[in-house]
Amino acid sequence: MSFSHLGLSNEIIRAVTERGYTEPTPIQMQAIPAVLSGSDLLAGAQTGTGKTASFTLPLLHRLSSNKGKGTSNGYPPIRALILTPTRELAAQVEESVREYGKYLNLNSMVMFGGVGINLQKQRLRGRVDILVATPGRLLDHVQQGTLNLSHIEVLVLDEADRMLDMGFIHDIRRILSLLPKQRQNLLFFATFSDKIKALAAGLLNNPKMIEV
Ligand code: AMP
Repeated sequence: MSFSHLGLSNEIIRAVTERGYTEPTPIQMQAIPAVLSGSDLLAGAQTGTGKTASFTLPLLHRLSSNKGKGTSNGYPPIRALILTPTRELAAQVEESVREYGKYLNLNSMVMFGGVGINLQKQRLRGRVDILVATPGRLLDHVQQGTLNLSHIEVLVLDEADRMLDMGFIHDIRRILSLLPKQRQNLLFFATFSDKIKALAAGLLNNPKMIEV
């Protein structure tokens, strides 16, 4: 099994090959076709399994093969939102998005707290297709009116169990209420729990389920 069998574009396969990956990992084999099909996804995977590429590669493929809808309120539309529990993970995920998407015409941004907000505001005035963020700082921007989430097509919750353990459930619910109803949702967790079950039940529509 190779990456080209999974239906990814040549630009993405080129970036992945340059990164030195020869074949997809088990989570990638299952998640990539599911995400490309447009399904919601509930995926259990530990760090180290290749889970980041399992959602970033098909996300990049989908965004680059469909044009965004555009916006009329002056802000450029952000089309994908990836939420992570920590700034370290946010930075890592955004780095992967940039690397795997280097031959595509898509812009990404990482946003987390503990650093100045003004540079982030400035960046949000430019084109951002994919936003990788921690929940608290994202809501700061929403409150200040500098972030528009009304064109999100794909939402990813990465390490959702850790986000819940860290007490982000209210922030997550608030963020969900700001997103358009019609969208694709991908939920990744390391350890299944009743809390994840409840979150998934309220968030996902007829999801494909994967556990590696
Ligand atoms: P992750 O589980 O996303 O944190 O990825 C763990 C590590 O595996 C990262 O260093 C990735 O660069 C690497 N990786 C991801 N996919 C592949 C693959 N298909 N082949 C080899 N290494 C990979």
